[in-house]
Amino acid sequence: MHDAVKHYPGEGYCIQCPECENYHLAPELLDFEEAIETAGVEMQPSTARQYESFGVLGQGGRWDMDTDEGLFVFTLADGRKSGAAFSQVGSWIQTTSSWMWGWAMPETHITPKTRRAPDLARALGKERDWPVLTSQLLMVGEREAWHLTRLSASLAGHALVYRAPVNEKATVYFAIDALKWLN
Ligand SMILES: [Zn+2]
Repeated sequence: MHDAVKHYPGEGYCIQCPECENYHLAPELLDFEEAIETAGVEMQPSTARQYESFGVLGQGGRWDMDTDEGLFVFTLADGRKSGAAFSQVGSWIQTTSSWMWGWAMPETHITPKTRRAPDLARALGKERDWPVLTSQLLMVGEREAWHLTRLSASLAGHALVYRAPVNEKATVYFAIDALKWLN
């Protein structure tokens, strides 16, 4: 019925089919695309303001997450720290274009607290019948990964999005509340 997608075609969203387990190109849904666009208009300037105010992209800094406490911390090269509550929206592997939603991550990696944004995305997906938000495994590009992250961040009222490598293969996409100085 649908062609199996073996390699990510470079744009769009591929969803793993619950019936045949192949990936298929997700249907293009106008209302879904509009929601993605609206979230981008909200989250891009909000993220830029937070990065600017808290020096997030400066040289020599580092990031840490405390999953149990649900606290994400940026440490600047000069030792100043900022932080806030966060969600892990999903993980993405560039070599295979694989996306796994945070709500599908094992409990060793995510808690109900840090799953808030992807949980809201999944709930919206169920309500609106948007399979991209309800399929635990997708194939997406970098741009789509940001789109999913911004949409989830917006639903949960987070102020910025951020991504960071967590091992040699995977990058995690985060959504973080408005930062506060911690020291
Ligand atoms: Zn199928």
